[in-house]
Amino acid sequence: MRDGSEHQPYRGRLAPSPTGLLHVGHARTFSVAAQRAREHGGTLVLRNEDLDPQRCRAEFVEAMYEDLRWLGLHWEEGPDCGGAFGPYSQSERRSFYLEAWRHLRDGGWIYPCTCTRRDLLLAATAPNDSDDEAIYPGLCRARSDAIEFAAPGGVNWRFRVPDGETLSFLDWHFGPQSFVAGRDFGDFLVWRRDDVPAYQLAVVVDDAHMKITQVVRGADLLKSTARQILLFRALGSPLPAYDHCALVRDERGERMAKRHDSASIRQLRQRGWSAERVLREAEALAQ
Ligand SMILES: [Zn+2]
Repeated sequence: MRDGSEHQPYRGRLAPSPTGLLHVGHARTFSVAAQRAREHGGTLVLRNEDLDPQRCRAEFVEAMYEDLRWLGLHWEEGPDCGGAFGPYSQSERRSFYLEAWRHLRDGGWIYPCTCTRRDLLLAATAPNDSDDEAIYPGLCRARSDAIEFAAPGGVNWRFRVPDGETLSFLDWHFGPQSFVAGRDFGDFLVWRRDDVPAYQLAVVVDDAHMKITQVVRGADLLKSTARQILLFRALGSPLPAYDHCALVRDERGERMAKRHDSASIRQLRQRGWSAERVLREAEALAQ
């Protein structure tokens, strides 16, 4: 697998999404990301992943910056301080995503999908793990009318995965990883019917354009990395290195979710915790 990170100046990123308050799991992942950038004498980029207008809220953007600063994290590029690879808020980066969409459309990598939720339920065969995108049963896969679409909105767009191909990468924390296209994940969304680019596409376009050399993020995204490898390949961009962090779980072994307010950085701070204590607890709960 190509790895463009070897001889380039280190560039890492913090990529929070303003859909709620940051919790101790974020604190841990982001502090690891900041630490890696420091160790390498590199640059840290803050990217505001505010693509989804249904779920993102301006008040959480402000809270996000404030909480990250309170934790003692610093970034060299971001929506608040600028930089050479901006804009740094995804909601302002549509032209980049559109360009990638056109490239994927022209290259035959993606196809329009008009399946309804009901079509998908009826055709569902394989069971899926809980926090993952369901494996698409392939109803629209043979469509060849992609090129007739001048713009992506109005239908879903899926990436045609190479069934049976094993996607492998070396994770800095978890070691060698392999996922099989068509078995572990199916034709995934790159653009949504409501005209919002899907997470996978936006992240890959941004990591490529912002010249990110190492991605530090939660272990819940390990399998997404396999999907993203396919997108990097299709877009002709070098692959960053990956370092997935163990997830922080609460006393009952459940993953910290954003809506889980008791674990928000903000609330712990209001209870008088120091940033050091938040990070220490997060470290202890990571498994
Ligand atoms: Zn379909």
